[in-house]
Amino acid sequence: MIDPRAIAAYQYCPRQRFLAFEYHRLGLEPAKPRFSLALDEAVRLGLRALYDNPFTVDGAAHFAESKFSAMASGGLDLPPSEDAAEAIEEGVALSNAMVRAYHLAGFPFREMRGVGIVDFARWKPLDLGGGVLVDAHPDAIVFPLPDERPVAIFWRLCAGSHDIDSYVERHRIVAGVLGAEQNLGRPVEAMIQYIFKGVRKNGKQYSPLIRGYAAPDAPIGRTAVHWTLRGPKWRSFGVWRWPGIAEWLHELPVQVISDQFRTVKQSEDFALLDMLSPHGRKEWKDQVRGQESEIADKLEVVPPNLNIAFAQYRHSCKFCQFQQVCDQRIADPEHSGMYRLKH
Ligand code: SF4
Repeated sequence: MIDPRAIAAYQYCPRQRFLAFEYHRLGLEPAKPRFSLALDEAVRLGLRALYDNPFTVDGAAHFAESKFSAMASGGLDLPPSEDAAEAIEEGVALSNAMVRAYHLAGFPFREMRGVGIVDFARWKPLDLGGGVLVDAHPDAIVFPLPDERPVAIFWRLCAGSHDIDSYVERHRIVAGVLGAEQNLGRPVEAMIQYIFKGVRKNGKQYSPLIRGYAAPDAPIGRTAVHWTLRGPKWRSFGVWRWPGIAEWLHELPVQVISDQFRTVKQSEDFALLDMLSPHGRKEWKDQVRGQESEIADKLEVVPPNLNIAFAQYRHSCKFCQFQQVCDQRIADPEHSGMYRLKH
């Protein structure tokens, strides 16, 4: 079954598709995850836990932080200049804070009247024909009222910008909507929820959810601390150390919490409307079917000639985690300590 991220990876760089999804049929992953990837995964898992039981926000927040800790336990892929212990503390605190803030912001769409749980593990894969099956589901589904369209929700964690014009998002959303409609047997409305995790600068994560400020001479204490910088030389510090995430979030202005989220509905956004139009869906299905059958043919040749079958698109290297292995400088990536086989 094909992961929508694998569809995107082939268009991003064919070699990346091979390394991340086809190497020894499983694909490779870096032994140490990047901070942002571990954070995204932990927050997604925490939000799923929140949807499973909206009344246990403490449990969902702690679940997210425990997942971040587990992913970081073997180390994070950080620049040498960063303090690894502090980065882990920040990731733990921010994964907890983002789940709590999502809950405080009202999920964050107050007009929704029902939260429905769907066990995606029982879903049938999206069948595109020609033997192409896609693992296609949204992040969550909400059922507003029985006679209204279910809403397929896609979480997009981002630093600050919010565009869906990325390979990964496009494939994930179209596949997720088609998968939801196939499994539910009725049309759904897509909604993207942008979740702002703040910017990482000089080895620190700047988000009002985890970082406060105090005047230069003021002792750090309840009256001295503010969520935003008030003057020159104010010191930033992690609020997870004081006063603690739950207390800090309850003191933040509601607007600051709400500003960490933005929702975009299919009915309101031209890009979403366009890619989910009948023409957009057909174009996507045709493209994916053709692409996946081409890849299957290439993989039938053992071993595949990577330079011909899975070319390197060098314009995509800046954010790629496979730079060490894509030129085969590492002869045995599985046992190099830098990469491991997915399982
Ligand atoms: S490092 Fe560049 S060429 Fe190599 S797999 Fe990544 S994106 Fe492709």
